[in-house]
Amino acid sequence: MMPFPNSTIFGPAIHQSNSTLKVLKRVLITGAAGFIGSHLCDRFLQEGYQVVGMDNLLTGSLRNIEHLFKEERFEFYHHDVTKYVHLSGPLDHILHFASPASPIDYLKMPIQTLKVGSLGTHHLLGLAKDKKARILIASTSEVYGDPLVHPQREEYWGNVNPIGPRGVYDEAKRFMEAMTMAYHRFHGLDIRIVRIFNTYGPRMRINDGRALPAFMAQALRGEGLTVYGDGTQTRSFCYVDDLVEGIYRLLHADYTYPVNIGNPDEITVLQLAREILDLVGNPAAYIDYRPLPEDDPKVRQPDISLAKQLLKWQPEIPRSEGLVKTLAYFREALGKA
Ligand code: NAD
Ligand code: UDP
Repeated sequence: MMPFPNSTIFGPAIHQSNSTLKVLKRVLITGAAGFIGSHLCDRFLQEGYQVVGMDNLLTGSLRNIEHLFKEERFEFYHHDVTKYVHLSGPLDHILHFASPASPIDYLKMPIQTLKVGSLGTHHLLGLAKDKKARILIASTSEVYGDPLVHPQREEYWGNVNPIGPRGVYDEAKRFMEAMTMAYHRFHGLDIRIVRIFNTYGPRMRINDGRALPAFMAQALRGEGLTVYGDGTQTRSFCYVDDLVEGIYRLLHADYTYPVNIGNPDEITVLQLAREILDLVGNPAAYIDYRPLPEDDPKVRQPDISLAKQLLKWQPEIPRSEGLVKTLAYFREALGKA
């Protein structure tokens, strides 16, 4: 079974097997060189899709997708989606994952964060409309802000400070959801909205500032693990393979409202730091308390009843297993750094 050369000029790739001709589905993934985007590229290629990756490498790296360039069904465009997005050929789905995602990144790049959530989303909605494609947008638990309802259900409208330092990310994502719903209601666009809770795994940037890569790198180097505040704030960490499975199912489900995808296993940040200290076992590493950043949410846990019922999905990989896999990646990454 040999695929014909794949090209945006000649249209969709065709797989020919003895008597059957099968036109492959084509998906555009923005943020493809990032942590989650690169895992989505892997998954859609495994499922037999033609995958078009797009990224401006603001926070991503070609290293995350270098293994895909030998794949005939993969194309990559180095492009900033806040600029007009053009793509020739048919398109079945768009997965919009481009955006700085770590608090440190979006505090450093507030305008780019606002632009990719607003202008970038507008361009991709326009492209989806033009191609009659289904679009899935990557929203976030941050739309719930510092939540007053716990755990967070999709019906909760959130508690966000629009002018605080995190507002650039939270409001960009809330605008993204509003704009996507408007395209659905006004143009009949086929949409999906995933609200992603803290996700971790291989290919996170070691210095992206998020708690989990920061603690792993600090423990491996024998430094202080920088726990902000007293570490009693909570988060619920989902392994990336579980997230990707949930996203894949949501894309193929018949549901146009937001769906939480995350792991409800909630722990304090201090507990996470201690688990990582124990796992790494470096006697030189220790807990180093630092000031709590402004507007840092005090609690976060997804209510995943909707995903369970709608997608027959729930996370399968416990933190004990996910941390071991992620640590193996960081050990190697740090060895090369
Ligand atoms: P990441 O920083 O690893 O990936 C984001 C990618 O988007 C990077 O490769 C970056 O270069 C690219 N990008 C940024 N601006 C762009 C632009 N203007 N044009 C093209 N590409 C651009 O982050 P991630 O953790 O993989 O997050 C991916 C998506 O998932 C984001 O939209 C984020 O908001 C969402 N999300 C992630 C988490 C999480 O825990 N990782 C939680 C909630 C939501
Ligand atoms: N955090 C921490 N030390 C760090 C980085 C983060 O204690 O070096 C805390 C942060 O204040 C927050 C939690 O860990 O309470 C998760 O932070 P992260 O940046 O991973 O993601 P968030 O859930 O805040 O978007």
